[in-house]
Amino acid sequence: MLSATFRVDGRTALVTGAGSGIGRATAIELAAAGSAVGCADIDEQSCRSCAEEITAQGGTAFSYSLDVRSAADFTSVASNLLERTGRIDILANVAGAIMARGPVLSMRDDEFEEGLTLNLKSFVHGCRAVGAAMIIGGGGSIINVSSGTVDGRAPNLGAYSIPKAGVLQLTRTLAMELGRDGVRVNTVSPGYISTSMTAAHYRNADGTVNVEQRNTVDSEHSAEIPLGRPGQAREVATAVTFLASDASSYITGQIIRVNGGLAMPL
Ligand code: NAD
Repeated sequence: MLSATFRVDGRTALVTGAGSGIGRATAIELAAAGSAVGCADIDEQSCRSCAEEITAQGGTAFSYSLDVRSAADFTSVASNLLERTGRIDILANVAGAIMARGPVLSMRDDEFEEGLTLNLKSFVHGCRAVGAAMIIGGGGSIINVSSGTVDGRAPNLGAYSIPKAGVLQLTRTLAMELGRDGVRVNTVSPGYISTSMTAAHYRNADGTVNVEQRNTVDSEHSAEIPLGRPGQAREVATAVTFLASDASSYITGQIIRVNGGLAMPL
């Protein structure tokens, strides 16, 4: 039987990007480990279906339409969740996306700004929206999802990888600033994970998956991955859940790479 320290019973989590991929798997995993979950996403229908799935499995979940680029949106979602459950113990900042591609020197200002807002400023908004509640509640755990692109091999993805590198420093800074209040702050950095984000590499024009192209892209990536395959969203979600639980009570300011060994910095 799983040690109770890995469970998060009686806690409340806010998960962004809960409509799809890693965020959805995280919301479901946290709920299975005992937490009430606020499932938030810009796509209202998808986060509602995530909350419904959790409820159907006997868990507690609430659905929130949230644009992480808006600090005001975050504040109102956090205060509603607080009203409903009386606490916020866990924040999984997951929502993010690759927007503009291209070399830094030729990127337009608005493209770079858009990447910064979605992939870094939004993480700051999330931490600020829940930080006070965690401190008043005696502690908490914030998990910021960064990206394997910060390990160095991401030409033409500056509007994504540069903000994602900022997420690491945000994690370290907050870990120092909030440690005495019992709030731990860590980063999970996924490698190549099969989600709708990676499916962009092998989608047909009508949105369906081109299976042949998927197999080619997956095997190209897998050739460089020591475990020899893409990761699954649930494999990232379990790392987030570990960091949310007391099983990681002495871990803060750290980065956990869920990448099948793709990068192994010392
Ligand atoms: P995904 O596309 O499956 O899910 C992303 C979710 O974020 C979607 O539900 C989308 O609606 C939501 N979202 C997008 N913009 C939003 C906004 N402004 N406000 C609220 N929600 C918004 O992608 P995923 O692969 O699950 O990615 C989740 C996170 O993991 C992202 O931060 C991504 O950068 C990171 N990541 C993914 C991979 C990978 O290989 N899939 C690798 C490294 C990092």
